[in-house]
Amino acid sequence: MMKVENIAIIGTGMAGIACAKALLATGNKVTLFDKSPRPGGRMSSRTFEHWIADHGAQYFTAKSESFKSVTNSWLTQDFIKPWLGKVVAYKNNQIVNVDNTVQRYVGIPAMNALAKHLVADMKVCFSQTICKIERVKDSWILFSKEQGQIQDSFDLIIMAIPPKQAADLIPKRITNLQEVCSRAKMLPCWTLIAYQDSKIVLPFDGAFMEENPFSWIARNNSKPARSNHESWTAQAHPEWSSKYINYTNQEVEPLLVSAFEKITGQSCTSYQSHLWRYARVESPGNESFILDKNSRIGICGDWLLHSTIEGAWTSGQMLGQQINKILD
Ligand SMILES: Cc1cc2nc3c(=O)[nH]c(=O)nc-3n(C[C@H](O)[C@H](O)[C@H](O)COP(=O)(O)OP(=O)(O)OC[C@H]3O[C@@H](n4cnc5c(N)ncnc54)[C@H](O)[C@@H]3O)c2cc1C
Repeated sequence: MMKVENIAIIGTGMAGIACAKALLATGNKVTLFDKSPRPGGRMSSRTFEHWIADHGAQYFTAKSESFKSVTNSWLTQDFIKPWLGKVVAYKNNQIVNVDNTVQRYVGIPAMNALAKHLVADMKVCFSQTICKIERVKDSWILFSKEQGQIQDSFDLIIMAIPPKQAADLIPKRITNLQEVCSRAKMLPCWTLIAYQDSKIVLPFDGAFMEENPFSWIARNNSKPARSNHESWTAQAHPEWSSKYINYTNQEVEPLLVSAFEKITGQSCTSYQSHLWRYARVESPGNESFILDKNSRIGICGDWLLHSTIEGAWTSGQMLGQQINKILD
């Protein structure tokens, strides 16, 4: 049995939120921290003038019975809706397959809105980049770049962040956790967000591609409850993104824009780009989450299970449930 009164969760992506939800359901005291001013992590959206674009996770699916039930509760609360856009495999300017088999869901009116709904009744400290954790007797003290020492102390810390960022925070002497983090390789993703004054004429709303540089492109305004203004998200293959990982946005944008214009046959009105340095795990590990009772550190995230919203949620939820089991 472990005595835990105050739990800190670093990261308000879907893993951190799921873990918090499980812990709060049994009456634990939980505080979440995120370096960003808003929740959702890689389930992220951008607004620009009158356009909205999902530039991280594009949609999610529900495979396990447990996640299907969570998804159904979000549907009834109007946090998400099915995306009924036409999704295809596209090669050499031709549709090679139409993918009708999968039910895809999106946040309303943007992917990150789901996270906003879910944390509404949680205690979250935004714009707090946790840069150091220190063990003092049986407690953990946190420090953030913005505030310095966080006033509360914690009995247990959950790292719901990508492995490189977790490794930077976990003290080097905790070698078992350092090893798990250093084994995981995350792949990057350069992303183009294209805003168009006129409709792009392509026979689909989302397409898996093989052509360089893109692996996926999608029409944001084909998703439910979006603005009517035409905006597209185009995501580059991990190999291509790795090749250009040290380039600046200004250097990469001409390459992404010209490749996108070649696919659409139309010139791009305006655009932005984003590098996801830790987009997806190359291959997940053997454990869905980690709970180290000696150091009182838990780790969860998509990179331990599967780089999807469902994978992140399941990892966080399983860690929360495991902690509930061993608390006195
Ligand atoms: C380009 C792209 C496309 C994708 N497409 C899909 C898709 O279509 N469908 C799908 O299911 N999945 C998709 N994914 C994967 C999905 O987004 C992730 O698997 C999931 O969002 C990961 O959630 P997480 O909670 O594990 O981590 P994250 O979402 O990365 O959350 C980690 C959080 O921790 C915060 N953080 C990090 N370090 C610190 C620190 N030191 N202090 C405080 N806060 C910190 C970050 O700000 C972030 O909010 C995509 C991902 C990317 C990048």
